[in-house]
Amino acid sequence: MAQVRLDGVRKVYDNGFVAVKGADFEVADGEFLVLVGPSGCGKSTLLRMIAGLESISEGTLAIGERVVNDVAPKDRDIAMVFQSYALYPHMSVAENLAFGLRLRGQSKEEIARRTAEAAEILGLDTMLERKPGQLSGGQRQRVALGRALVRDPAVFLLDEPLSNLDAKLRTSMRVEIARLHRRLGATMIYVTHDQIEAMTLGQRIVVLKDGEVQQIDTPMNLYDRPANLFVAGFLGSPAMNLFDGEVAADGTLRLQGRPVALDPAQSAALAGHRGRRVVVGIRPEQLHVGGSDTAGAIRVRLDVVEPVGNEVFLYASADGREVIARMPPGAELPTPGAELTLAFEPARLHFFDPDSERRMP
Ligand code: ATP
Repeated sequence: MAQVRLDGVRKVYDNGFVAVKGADFEVADGEFLVLVGPSGCGKSTLLRMIAGLESISEGTLAIGERVVNDVAPKDRDIAMVFQSYALYPHMSVAENLAFGLRLRGQSKEEIARRTAEAAEILGLDTMLERKPGQLSGGQRQRVALGRALVRDPAVFLLDEPLSNLDAKLRTSMRVEIARLHRRLGATMIYVTHDQIEAMTLGQRIVVLKDGEVQQIDTPMNLYDRPANLFVAGFLGSPAMNLFDGEVAADGTLRLQGRPVALDPAQSAALAGHRGRRVVVGIRPEQLHVGGSDTAGAIRVRLDVVEPVGNEVFLYASADGREVIARMPPGAELPTPGAELTLAFEPARLHFFDPDSERRMP
């Protein structure tokens, strides 16, 4: 079994900087887990600790049934794929693929069999004699994946493997990686700062900020029930809209001074906040031009209309905050400068405590 388990894993660098403040989670056997967060949040440090390239300051790391804190990288049964590909430039693709196996003393037949299999899976069969310099970025990344693949490791660790590719290639390689995961059924831990990659690849996602795990859940749960303002703003593009709301003394929610008709569960969640401010969030696709809905709405001034083919984005402002709404194509477009009422279903609202920034309830 190739599950990975972290218990209270911390990283304090030699200069005293705490890059990972305590990670506790388990990656199931065969799971695709994504570590995501902004630059400097500690995701590479965490992955490198799992790989054994960085020591663990505190806590325990187990791969399968074995605690591996003090096990050398080569004995952890993992294979890592780097953003930089890390290919040997003077070796052919075939030699690059075979190199790790040769080091491990595998037989010639075994090396040939595994190399051919990886080349076939990754579509590299026709370029086995080329050097990395004669390959495109996408092909190089495939060789880097192939080098991990031939090792048949218990766990694949991927550190921003698509960052050096252009947008179109990233999308197609993303699909290839997802396919590869399905085909191999292997445990994969994937680091990225790109929330779209995280949402499309991850079966579960660990969201990190400043060395701290913010939330661990499936993409849909993270999107629908973000645990705090950071997660709410980080996942989803364009980001969730945030407004200042007020919970009146009678318990009703007011937005721009007007009441919003909440359901009983939502009212109960806000009951402890009477007379206080609350941050109200709503996703762009939940705002609708038209304003016939009297249950909840917000008045905005439209600044820019941006059709992008399969959808239209409306950039507006309300009380000094930017508001983005996403409309289906084909609808009649409002004109910039117009005052609009954007209606929403109150059930779609998210509430956050302005002080702790945590989701309520
Ligand atoms: P990026 O997306 O930019 O690669 P990251 O989330 O992967 O960021 P890490 O590379 O894990 O971040 O770094 C986490 C923090 O630890 C950063 O603030 C970084 O400056 C710091 N850091 C990394 N390596 C060291 C080191 N050897 N000594 C001290 N601090 C370090």
